[in-house]
Amino acid sequence: MGLVKQRVVILGGGTGGTLVANRLRRKYEPAELEIFVVDQDNRHVYQPGLLFVPFGLAHPEDIVRPRVRQLHHDITFIEAGIDRVENESNEVHLLDGSVLQYDVLVVATGAVLTPEETEGLTGPGWMEKVFTFYSPEGATALETALTKFEGGRVVVNVVDMPIKCPVAPLEFCFLADWYFRERGIRDRVQLTYVTPLDAAFTKPIAASHLGTMLADKGIELVTEFNTGEVDGAEGRLTSFDGREVEFDLGVVVPLHGGAPFVGRSPGLGDALNFVPTDERTLQSKCAPNIFVIGDAANVPASKAGSVTHFEGETVVDNIANFLGGRPLVDNFDGHANCFIETGFHKALLIDFNYDTEPLPGHFPGRVGLPLLKESRLNHLGKLMFQWFYWHTLLPGRDIPGMGAAMPTAGKPPEADHSDQHARKD
Ligand SMILES: Cc1cc2nc3c(=O)[nH]c(=O)nc-3n(C[C@H](O)[C@H](O)[C@H](O)COP(=O)(O)OP(=O)(O)OC[C@H]3O[C@@H](n4cnc5c(N)ncnc54)[C@H](O)[C@@H]3O)c2cc1C
Repeated sequence: MGLVKQRVVILGGGTGGTLVANRLRRKYEPAELEIFVVDQDNRHVYQPGLLFVPFGLAHPEDIVRPRVRQLHHDITFIEAGIDRVENESNEVHLLDGSVLQYDVLVVATGAVLTPEETEGLTGPGWMEKVFTFYSPEGATALETALTKFEGGRVVVNVVDMPIKCPVAPLEFCFLADWYFRERGIRDRVQLTYVTPLDAAFTKPIAASHLGTMLADKGIELVTEFNTGEVDGAEGRLTSFDGREVEFDLGVVVPLHGGAPFVGRSPGLGDALNFVPTDERTLQSKCAPNIFVIGDAANVPASKAGSVTHFEGETVVDNIANFLGGRPLVDNFDGHANCFIETGFHKALLIDFNYDTEPLPGHFPGRVGLPLLKESRLNHLGKLMFQWFYWHTLLPGRDIPGMGAAMPTAGKPPEADHSDQHARKD
């Protein structure tokens, strides 16, 4: 009796979609499993590289590659927008009118920026006096603006959580401090970080370290500021409770939501178009044959490429378990691992999961990269990561010494590792 070929359709050919497709291809022969990846364009952006573009440390063309070239040749890439998913009939409807049937669906469509949701943000002054570095166009425009900037108030603002890579706006502040010092005009620049959180970061120990670093570098911290309006022409942020912060150059991380097609798909998404997902098995709550990876999921982990990478193992194992009629594994622990660039060729590293907040120590074991401590080694790790991204992570290979589960070996044994707050951040 011949094998019945099954079909996995993966929505999104970014970090999560690509690594799941390639991991599945390694696990199954083409005769056993058809793999389709759908994306609206063929430009895969290495998003962590966007941080460096405004400071002239990277160019957009260095961080973009064709999506199709990141996929194993036995994977079918379809360049098309997604209209909706009909989970009752196991169908994906594409914007060009075609329909794809699936046995298993993977939602890997990430998070989208919604700057138009904040009053005034995309009005006068947008991309002239107020920018975002979260898109290639924004990062490039900001580079030009920074080059011309000779002094004044630079305000970095996170409108609200959740955002991709919650440490990136802090890294922007640290790099801006470095950049203006290099240009010899730091004394003419007032740098302010405006956040909706009650501290520099969500997790208490890291928040205290990062808050101290902001203060040491002379960067003002404004907390619990929920931006209601941005006046780009006048250079003013106004919070919902009426507070104002003035700027000459605004750097805003806009609101994020899930992909709009999620909202058009019956039963798939929540109010923000993220997909309700089991935080340990990564199976969607909408249907047993839909799995979710990366920023598209509503799990209480950071929206980060490292989290997406660590989720890959569980997602692929559970697709195989589902197709084989076996019980799912519930082993995703919320592991996140972020290098925080701090300027002057140094970086900090934090490592945490659902239950353990970022702690000092070393990663991945007793000897390794220092945690919560600035070092040149961490900076080199951050720079090398781009190579690992294209050559190891996306092809679906394991990174040596970086397992999916959070390592505890290099962290202090006497510390209380539990952090119930972490689950809610
Ligand atoms: C400035 C910045 C810095 C960052 N720095 C770091 C870092 O240092 N470390 C880290 O771990 N993470 C970092 N991240 C976050 C990281 O890039 C993301 O978390 C990661 O890429 C998420 O992967 P994903 O597969 O969920 O989404 P993505 O990689 O964004 O892929 C989603 C894909 O879905 C496609 N798509 C969406 N809607 C549709 C539709 N309707 N039809 C067709 N296709 C669609 C998109 O085109 C896209 O290709 C950073 C992000 C930014 C913006």
